[in-house]
Amino acid sequence: MSFSSEVKEELSKHMSEARHCQIAEIAAMISLCGKVTISEKDEYAVKIHTENIAVAKKFYELLKAAFHIKAAIAMKKNVYLRKGKSYTVAVSKHEEAIQILKAIKVLGKDGEIQEEMSISNMVVQNTCCKRSFIRGSFLSSGSISDPEKTYHFEIVCLSEEKANQLKEMIQFFEIDAKVVTRKKYYVVYVKEGAMIVDLLNIMEAHVSLMKLENVRILKDMRNSVNRRVNCETANINKTVSAAVKQVEDIKYIEKRIGLDGLAPGLEEIARLRLEQPEATLKELGEMLQSPVGKSGVNHRLRKLSAIAQELRENEIT
Ligand SMILES: [Zn+2]
Repeated sequence: MSFSSEVKEELSKHMSEARHCQIAEIAAMISLCGKVTISEKDEYAVKIHTENIAVAKKFYELLKAAFHIKAAIAMKKNVYLRKGKSYTVAVSKHEEAIQILKAIKVLGKDGEIQEEMSISNMVVQNTCCKRSFIRGSFLSSGSISDPEKTYHFEIVCLSEEKANQLKEMIQFFEIDAKVVTRKKYYVVYVKEGAMIVDLLNIMEAHVSLMKLENVRILKDMRNSVNRRVNCETANINKTVSAAVKQVEDIKYIEKRIGLDGLAPGLEEIARLRLEQPEATLKELGEMLQSPVGKSGVNHRLRKLSAIAQELRENEIT
């Protein structure tokens, strides 16, 4: 199961105690994946459409809890789709449909249905209801990427107005949500790991939250280990290439004037370096007859390089 499906599975089992929260969640689902139909006899029906059975069941349970309405769940097989199944949850009785539409405030006083089915902020005044609304929106048309790969949370909306409302609601919880257009859709998204953790908390997906946190911790650890390994490798490479250059210089001096032509202190370090090409400066210093520190060794090796450089220049002229 994808991480997205896991989160939806968890959220589908979460049932708010308060009726206002249940209504806010129903409102979000109708607004994002629902439809109102009006028959020739002027009778209303409300339905939602989803490919996720857990989401269908959640809507059914919410209607039962908030309105004591028993909706009808229908499954449809689509032979052209890989996933193949989709679900419709419908309330076909006119009085029941009206009851729902009034509660989510998309029905005007004149009985006219609001075309876009944008949800009034009245329905989501309480913080608890905002949480429920975000949860319902995510269940209807949201997704989360596998955190092992990338951090991405999004909810697809059909209108700019709905996307902005949702964005502001998420921003209310101090999460930096943004909106981008994709084809004819408006997508509300969050791209930062820590903020997606916060979002799961707001929607009350606590099991998924722990999972995401674990992945984040492991990822951070891997990154810091990688950084350290890279850093150490870089230092080793630096040491090795410096030593190679020193050995080259010393061999050049040997060829041109012989190592015994050097001052005794320089001769000793030159011979030692040829014998110990892999030793660090500190180790070389300790091997000398009268040991010196790292900077002493460095000083002598630089002197040797300078001599080699001088000899090379003389050779050219
Ligand atoms: Zn509430």
